[in-house]
Amino acid sequence: MLSSKCPWCAEKISTQHLGSRKRKTKPKWYQLTRRTQVCPYCNNPVKINSKSVSGLLLFMPLLLLGTSQAILGKTFLADYYLEEIGFALAVTGFIITLFTIKLDKAEDL
Ligand SMILES: [Zn+2]
Repeated sequence: MLSSKCPWCAEKISTQHLGSRKRKTKPKWYQLTRRTQVCPYCNNPVKINSKSVSGLLLFMPLLLLGTSQAILGKTFLADYYLEEIGFALAVTGFIITLFTIKLDKAEDL
């Protein structure tokens, strides 16, 4: 669903269609997997630009709202339309991310 241009060959690719292969370099401690994502056209390693998915932060109000209500066991916030606002923010964040997601070149060559 999220699509972007490949930083290597400029081909339009969807994040769902990214291939994966084993890393050629040793994974760093924060990299949980030995696999890396690759462009399905040119087979070069790509990664999702972390700044380009910052729109997903708009999911936070909704998550916090849901969590606080689950802990407190009340829907006291419903009176102020906060659920609707939180939901609207989450949808907006998703749409923003849909259009702004970018792929970067990954170093694993
Ligand atoms: Zn490519």
